[in-house]
Amino acid sequence: MKKKSTIVNHPPDVSPPPGNLPVIAPIYQTVKYEFETVDDTLRMLRGEKPGYFYMRASNPTTRQLELTLAQVQGRDDCLATASGVNAIAQTLLALTKAGDHILFFIETYGPTRNIIRRLLARFGVGHTMLSIEDTAGIENVLVTKPTRLVFFESPTNPMLKLADIEELVDLAHRHGALAVMDNTFAGFHQHGEYDIDLFVHSLTKYASGTGDVMGGAVIGREELIEGMRPDFAVLGALLDPHAAFLIQRGLKTYFVRYSEQTRAAQAVAEHLARHPGVARVYYPGLDTHPQAALARKQMREAGTVLSFDVKDGSEAARRFSENLELFALTASLGSTESLVMAPQLIGTRDFTPEQARLSGVTASTVRLSIGLEDVGDLIADIDQSFQRLATPS
Ligand SMILES: *Cc1c(COP(=O)(O)O)cnc(C)c1O
Repeated sequence: MKKKSTIVNHPPDVSPPPGNLPVIAPIYQTVKYEFETVDDTLRMLRGEKPGYFYMRASNPTTRQLELTLAQVQGRDDCLATASGVNAIAQTLLALTKAGDHILFFIETYGPTRNIIRRLLARFGVGHTMLSIEDTAGIENVLVTKPTRLVFFESPTNPMLKLADIEELVDLAHRHGALAVMDNTFAGFHQHGEYDIDLFVHSLTKYASGTGDVMGGAVIGREELIEGMRPDFAVLGALLDPHAAFLIQRGLKTYFVRYSEQTRAAQAVAEHLARHPGVARVYYPGLDTHPQAALARKQMREAGTVLSFDVKDGSEAARRFSENLELFALTASLGSTESLVMAPQLIGTRDFTPEQARLSGVTASTVRLSIGLEDVGDLIADIDQSFQRLATPS
């Protein structure tokens, strides 16, 4: 009989018998995996035999999520990471070396701008930052400067401008650059038909949907992902299995959430467009969007985020945001609860005045992320918030 201190460290095996399978894959919450022999271990580590050794390198729970995401985005393979920003940072580190040049845009997500302008610059990676609307400038940079990659988003945050993906990717490829797209806003089910080399995503948003877990992913064809894998392995931020399990679970309702929240966002956008307190609405699903035709061509669904300018200016926009009762006043998007960002919270502090003007963000721009609440309740909340603006407190 083994001693009790041995038993607690080697608990009884309760693996289900062969042929008796769990319907949901369990969370493999273990750092280490063993083989019975050194030879089998070495064969696995040399890649001659399938298996797992150490959680940071790979684990079955995270692998299941990676394979799901790759299929939904329409590519071969995926690496899942601890956050969206981490997926972007590791992808850019893995793809570049000193002397390389990146083309990216003023409309890019703020932390990504920081990765390129501060972190990569320290390692000798150069960049050009243009407006996504500067078609002539984009072509000029690609013609005159050898460029390793073009990094872009569509729709952009928070002004919902679209990149003409077909044109941009074609231009990048003609000049020998990779096309890397942050596809977080449009989601895993969109843009896969374009010749984009790598997609990066924040899984913190639509993947889990519930706003209670963080993650990121880079998705692309096998040879590119394989090329990045050694760098990802030593940077050491593989998504942990518990988070991967929660995100895999969230994905089951991804399609119904995205569609339902998009339907509600369309209704809110149309309501705001008619509202006397609103100067202008920015949403790709509106016919008044300057790129409405492009939106119809390249997007199946216009998404769940919209922005608008409050007519009475910056302080009115702040009070409007604070007056809302069903919208949490905070960052992020794609969760089942609705969110609002006041103009004072939208980050443009790293811009020159000219860059700030090109971004299109105004002092009264409010961004909404539409959740799964009843859309009539959301519209009533917006109306009561505008009404309270009219009645001084
Ligand atoms: C949120 C977001 C990210 C970063 O994702 P995290 O998971 O918060 O690190 C990157 N890109 C876009 C477009 C985002 O909205």
